[in-house]
Amino acid sequence: MAEIDLHTHSTASDGTLSPSALVQHAEAIGLKAIALTDHDTVAGLDEAALAATRVEFIRGCELSVHFPQGSMHILGLWLPRRMQQLPALLHDLARKRAQRNERILENLRRHGVAIDDAELQACAAGGVVGRPHVARLLVEKGHAASIHEAFHLWLRPGTPGYAPKAKLLPHQAISALKAEGATVILAHPSTLNLDPEPLETLLGELKAAGLDGVEVYYPLHTPAQTRLFAELCRRLDLLESAGSDFHGDNKPSIALGRGKDGLHGPYALVERMKAVRARMGLPVEA
Ligand code: AMP
Ligand code: FE
Ligand code: FE
Ligand code: ZN
Repeated sequence: MAEIDLHTHSTASDGTLSPSALVQHAEAIGLKAIALTDHDTVAGLDEAALAATRVEFIRGCELSVHFPQGSMHILGLWLPRRMQQLPALLHDLARKRAQRNERILENLRRHGVAIDDAELQACAAGGVVGRPHVARLLVEKGHAASIHEAFHLWLRPGTPGYAPKAKLLPHQAISALKAEGATVILAHPSTLNLDPEPLETLLGELKAAGLDGVEVYYPLHTPAQTRLFAELCRRLDLLESAGSDFHGDNKPSIALGRGKDGLHGPYALVERMKAVRARMGLPVEA
C-alpha cells in the first residue's frame, strides 16, 4: 500500500467516485496525500479540498498533449485556488472536446449505434465527457461486453467510433501549468512508446520547457521500466512521482493507492516535491 497517490480521477472527468467520495476513500485506506487530477478540468477540486480532513489534499489536473509517437499526458500539482490563465484554456479545451464527442456519436450512428448527446451528458453527470462515458453506454446498450471491449471494438484509433481530440503542444501545457505555480509531472511515461535513448533526449527537452518530474511509479509499468524511469530522473535531476490513475469502476482493475498489485508511493516523494517548491518560493499548502 502506497502512502500517496498523485494521479486520480473523479466524476468531474471520467472517474466514477465524486470528488468527496474519492477523498473519503483515500482517508479510509489511510493515504497520507492524494492529488485529484481530472482530465482537462479543475471543477472537482473545491469539493475534494473541503472533504479532506485527515489526508493531505493536492489540487491538480491532467492535460493530454500532442505527441504523434504515443500518448503524452502532463499532470499539474499544487494548483492554486485562484488561477490566472488556466481556466480560459480549460474552457477552450472543453469546447473542442464537445465537438469531438459529437463526431464520435456521428461515427457510431453511421455504424448503427444510436447514442444521443443527451444520454451522453446524463452519463457524465455534469463532468467532462470523455470516451469512457461513451464506452459505458456501448456496454449498457449491448454493443460491448465491457468498457475495455468497447474501447477495443469502437473507440480506439482505427475503429469505427474514433475521432481525434484537439490537444495542446507539450510546451504549451507545461508553461500554462508553470504559470500557475504548479509542479509539473510527466504522467505514465511508458505510453510515449519511446526507447531509452530518445526518451532521455525528450525528458531533457521537457525539463528545459519547465518539467519538474516524472511519474516513475505507475501500475502498468514493468519493473524494468520503473528502474529505467527512476534512473533517468536521477540523471536529469527530475522529481519522482507515484500515481495509480484511479478511475473507480471505469478502470475496475486499478485500486486507489494500490494499482494492480501494490504501488510504490512513499510520502518522502511528496516531501521532496515540497522542498523543491519551498526553494522556488512556491506554496506547499493545498
Ligand atoms: P478521452 O480523453 O475522451 O480520449 O478518453 C481517454 C480516457 O479513456 C483515458 O484517460 C482512460 O481513462 C480511458 N481509456 C483509454 N483507453 C482505455 C481502455 N482500453 N479501457 C478503458 N479505459 C480506457
Ligand atoms: Fe481517464
Ligand atoms: Fe493519463
Ligand atoms: Zn489519468
